[in-house]
Amino acid sequence: MIPYARQSITQEDIDAVVEVLQSERLTQGPAVPAFEQALVALTGAAHALATNSATSALHLACLALEVGPGDVVWTSPNTYVASANCARFCGADVDFVDIEAGTGNLSVAALEHKLQRAETLPKVVVVVHFAGQSCDMPAIRALADRYQFRVIEDASHALGAYCGEFAVGSCHYSDITVFSFHAVKIATTGEGGALLCRDDKLAQRAELLRSHGVTRDSHLLQDTDAAPWVYEQQALGFNFRMTEMQAALGCSQLQRLEQFVSRRRELAALYADAFAQAGIEHLPVGVESSGHLFVLQVAAQQRRRIFDDLSAKQIGVNVHYMPVYWQPYYRQLGFDRGLCPVSEQYYSQAITLPLFPGLTDEQQAYVIDQVRAAVG
Ligand SMILES: *Cc1c(COP(=O)(O)O)cnc(C)c1O
Repeated sequence: MIPYARQSITQEDIDAVVEVLQSERLTQGPAVPAFEQALVALTGAAHALATNSATSALHLACLALEVGPGDVVWTSPNTYVASANCARFCGADVDFVDIEAGTGNLSVAALEHKLQRAETLPKVVVVVHFAGQSCDMPAIRALADRYQFRVIEDASHALGAYCGEFAVGSCHYSDITVFSFHAVKIATTGEGGALLCRDDKLAQRAELLRSHGVTRDSHLLQDTDAAPWVYEQQALGFNFRMTEMQAALGCSQLQRLEQFVSRRRELAALYADAFAQAGIEHLPVGVESSGHLFVLQVAAQQRRRIFDDLSAKQIGVNVHYMPVYWQPYYRQLGFDRGLCPVSEQYYSQAITLPLFPGLTDEQQAYVIDQVRAAVG
């Protein structure tokens, strides 16, 4: 089976992890801050906080922005469930903004339309850089300023991508950006995530909540005369920390980020060429994209058969994403089909093809042949 995604692990990655295993500290040592510094250097954000998953980072992001009961958070339906769940963790309500068919990203026009008519304006909008292509962040920033909402970028797909001159993660247009380092993403720590921001107070709040709401920092203690062993729990936090082994793997992986992204873009361009000749439609992979996913758009009535044909040929096709509000959990909250018609139409035609740096030219040629035969 050719999987739709696969991590790239070298001997250097393995050595980096083994070195940590032989060191003093498996947690709360030097590797996590080194990984965070590498993320800062890569993106230009002021702060990076590594976490045990992107889901945890999204949860921290909502808490840092003080999302709570009575608040509303809007996001895209074309995403993994975590982009919406993070608001529910905080007791807030969720609503969905339709996408644009050309990119699979949240539609700025649909967002503006919904803002103009909203009874309750959103406190936060979680935008998702679908497949690694940045949303139209300058336009989203302009709406955020006009309607006074905060912006979280779920950049789980978009490590190494750009939005104009700014690296995704810079937070130039947003309050907080979140990355995922799950094994299928652009670079991996096995499981893992990160929260990036520019604001010192947001970073401080997220850092406190990442580790039980507990601090030992003498500058932050309420007891100004505390003994050296004293720590204070100042809020109800979690244990969302990343291990040293994961961070060491992350540091090693980031050294090859440019290679990963350029090979992904190269493979995407080869797919695009082959499918243009055959008249097969797909989402474009732009020059600023991280090339996380290559998504075909086929006739809806044919999608199931094509998916099954490709699976039978040992090609690990996948589908990203069924609209989140179709999930039983969200239906039980009152969401119904028809809410975001573009997202529903897009989903009915979507098939994700294998795309990862280790996909060989021969494997890709086989996938292209089989797609031509199946769609043909
Ligand atoms: C993978 C993913 C997540 C969740 O990431 P984890 O690190 O597995 O928690 C959230 N949002 C999107 C868009 C994702 O692709």
